[in-house]
Amino acid sequence: MMNILIGINNLKEAMEFKNDIQEFYFGLGEISNHRKWYKNLNLNSINEAREIIKFANSFNKKIYLAVNEIYEEKEFNSLLKIVKDLLENGLSGLIVRDIRLLNIFKGKTFLILSTTATTFNSQSVNFYKQLGAERITLPCHLMPSEAKEIITANNNKIDFEIFYFPHEFCRNIDGICLYHTFRSNITAGNCKYPLVAKEKRFIMPLPDITSRENFIKEYKKLGVKYLKIPRDGEIKEKKEIIKKIKNLTR
Ligand SMILES: [Zn+2]
Repeated sequence: MMNILIGINNLKEAMEFKNDIQEFYFGLGEISNHRKWYKNLNLNSINEAREIIKFANSFNKKIYLAVNEIYEEKEFNSLLKIVKDLLENGLSGLIVRDIRLLNIFKGKTFLILSTTATTFNSQSVNFYKQLGAERITLPCHLMPSEAKEIITANNNKIDFEIFYFPHEFCRNIDGICLYHTFRSNITAGNCKYPLVAKEKRFIMPLPDITSRENFIKEYKKLGVKYLKIPRDGEIKEKKEIIKKIKNLTR
């Protein structure tokens, strides 16, 4: 079985999933992250975060914070203050992209590299590892056959994680896509829109669900130990996906 890391948006979800998964993560409204335009996908306050961290710790579950963008200088200090507060309150680690955060927290807490960092080759994995990343989330666009060399080149030195949710697949590559910061008509479906230039429409390919389910099985065979389910989706839907993943990776 693969270890499942699930994105949660409130204490209720933490309670619902505590027996189904190995680890939690969350976003916080006060810290810009890859779901920053979605109020329902971020905790409302630091107090709520402390409460959920306490709950996860009481069940011996690891819990991470998504700090997965590159930050501007002006937001960096307040961000650091909040992160340090949560680490003192039992937070298990961070999901990051910004190399300054890797540098600051290397050896001080557990660091997972976000899909938004787009590690498309073995040298980028090595680069982030030297900066302190202890687990790498592979880009969704990378097929297992292509990821094989990246994984085997680094397998004994670092853990890998894949990201999965049926309706969640950024066609324009997470971390590069412009539609994640699209202010109007915010829906998770924005990424399906083509990019338009001079009346021409450009659209990236999208693997079907069967292919993506097969990818999960192949990644497991390659030694990938973690699968991340995003914050998106209702509890019922997430429960079904967890069951499906467990069947696929048995
Ligand atoms: Zn996108």
